[in-house]
Parts: sequence; C-alpha cells; structure tokens
Amino acid sequence: MTWLDLADDTPFGLENLPYGAFSIAGALERRIGVPLGDHVLDLTAAAEETAAPFAPLLTAGVLNPLLAAGPDTWREVRETLRNWLTEPRYADQLRPHLHPLTEVTTHLAFEVADYVDFYSSEQHALNAGRIFRPDAAELPPNWKHLPIAYHGRAGTVVASGTPVVRPHGQRKPRTADAPSFGPSQRLDIEAEVGFVVGVPGTRVSTADFADHVFGVCLVNDWSARDIQAWESQPLGPFLGKSFATSVSPWIVPLAALDHARVDGPPQDPEPLEYLRTTEKWGLDLAIEVRLNGHLVSSPPFATQYWTAPQQLAHLTVNGAGLRTGDLFASGTVTGPDRDQRGSFLELSWGGREPLDLPDGRTRTFLEDGDEVAISATAPGPGGTRIGFGEVRGTVVPG
Ligand code: MN
Repeated sequence: MTWLDLADDTPFGLENLPYGAFSIAGALERRIGVPLGDHVLDLTAAAEETAAPFAPLLTAGVLNPLLAAGPDTWREVRETLRNWLTEPRYADQLRPHLHPLTEVTTHLAFEVADYVDFYSSEQHALNAGRIFRPDAAELPPNWKHLPIAYHGRAGTVVASGTPVVRPHGQRKPRTADAPSFGPSQRLDIEAEVGFVVGVPGTRVSTADFADHVFGVCLVNDWSARDIQAWESQPLGPFLGKSFATSVSPWIVPLAALDHARVDGPPQDPEPLEYLRTTEKWGLDLAIEVRLNGHLVSSPPFATQYWTAPQQLAHLTVNGAGLRTGDLFASGTVTGPDRDQRGSFLELSWGGREPLDLPDGRTRTFLEDGDEVAISATAPGPGGTRIGFGEVRGTVVPG
C-alpha cells in the first residue's frame, strides 16, 4: 500500500496524517510536518519540491494559512499526501524530506486566536459540584440546557514540553480567616480534547461544523484549584487557569476520525433547536493520563454530554465571530469509574483521598518536578488506531 516502512500498528499511519509544526535539530526555521511512523515528513519542503498548488500555504511555520484555506483545500492536501505515499514513483523524491521524530523539535502547530474552554462532561460536573459545593444541587440548573464555558487566555496556550511554572496567587482555605499570597498548593491538570477552527464564520449551525473545524488535538488545562476556588465567586476561572494551557503537537484532521464517530449520550431534556444535531459527533477517543510515567487515569471521551458541533453552535449563536486559529476545548473528560477521572481534584477527591502511585508514593495535587503526559488514540479502519501523540508538561517551582 505504501513505499514507506510502517509498522501495521503505528499510530501515525496513512489513515491518520495529522499536521504540526517542527524544526530540524540545529535549525531555527519552523516547517509544517506530518508524522509517519517514527518519522516526520517535511511537508513544506515536499510541497515545494513537487510544485504542489498548496505549497504557499505551508511556509508560515504555523498551520494558520492552511486552516484558513477551507475544507476543499484540506481534502486536496490529504489526497495528495496519500497519493505521494502510495505511488512508488514519489519515493526517491520524498525520502530526503523524512526526518526521525527523535531528531526534530515540535512547536505550537497554530497561532491561537481565541481560546474557549467548555465544561461538557456530566460526570466531571457532578464530581466538581460534589467536591466544591457539597450543599448545592448536583448540576447547575443551566447545565443540561447549554454547554457551559469560559473564555481562556489564548496568549498562554503553549506547546507540549513547555515547562509549567507553578503559579502564585491569592488563596484562602475554608479554615483561614483571610487570604494569603504564595505559590499554588493545589496545582492540577485537566485532561481535555481541543478543536481547532479553520474557517471564520458566525452563527455556525451544528450541521456546518465540519466546514469550519479543521481538526482535533489534546489539551491540558492546568488549574490552580486554590486560586480558582477563592477567585471564582461569582465569576468563572481567571488567574487559576490563565498561567498555562498545553496542547499536543499534531492536529488530527476530522477526516481521519470517521471510524471514531459515535452517538453522544442521550440528551434529556431535548436541547433548544439551535443545539440539536442529526449527525454523530461523539468521538470514541481513549485518553490516558500519566504522572511521572505511571498510568493514573483512562478517561473515555465518548461519554461527553455535549458534542463539539453543539459547543461551536453555542459559542457563535450570539453573533460572536470565529477566527482562524480559534481553539475550543471540551472541558475535563471524566468517565463514571474512579480510574477514568480527568483531574487530580477528582482522582484525590478534593485532596481527601490521596492517590497511590506504583512507586509507593502518594499524590493529591502536583509537586514540583512532576511530569504529566496525556495521550489518546481513536479507532481507525480495519482495527487500526489513530494516534494523537501526547501533550506533556513538567511542573517547575514558581
Ligand atoms: Mn478545563
């Protein structure tokens, strides 16, 4: 099928073909690349060499020009790639543009325009309610009528591998009389899935989702729970979230996810007209969260209550326009089981039930030096898996 030497079970096979930005060891220039097995194809160079019509979209060092070009161009690039990789006559021309993944540095794949983070896992919302507001109703009254979200800080969305500096801020434990200032003592993660907008628009209907959204990545919405709990009364997250949000290097195009599409959970009550969908846009991603190499959680993305087309319809329904490079994330992905919780807040139940690690240590919230890696795969055709790679970050002292 291909002249490349690819393992049958590679997460980066011909059915995947995600896109990202990278530089070759020792060089500063950022290029657009496509991971293939344990290599990356320099798509910028390959398009130039073959005089592909889309070559000018790949010279910015970020995906934004390709994102803005829209679905016809996205299809054309993907079909061209598959043609190159399956036609033996391209092998000699393209081989020099394959680099071992171990010899490249990945970067932020796109310039982030606006960043919105949802709160669309019912189990996460239930858990957070029980932990933060034990006396209140389990779900907020609006929760099943609209996908709740907050606007995050686009300028602090960072590439996987960027160290995360422990944030300072105000925190006031329930038992303290007054707030104090200092490094967060309840630093946490949120394992999430991000959606990258290509084509601008407004009032985007759920049916038009794939005309605007280019692809999917993994997101770690780092969260300082102590800062968040004190400041979010009554408005939403601010400094407890805005210090860093990490994203995975490779953006998996929607076209690679046909076999991952499933019905979302039943929605009761039926949402208002603008939030109704006819197509399946639940995504059967199997997420894994590792702390210092130990698997601590396996959140199932298919359990998300609100799907990405509903989130996009909601975030544009008031007339707010999309921009190329907008990122919206799912919210913490948490399944019903204890080992499916997408945050340490939930894994340690607010710090009250420390998590046992295989090395004999325990953890409630993150310590300096801790490394968190979030990875995911999804079903591909014929029993293959589509890989998302991982988003990784290490906590360093503030
Ligand atoms: Mn979040």
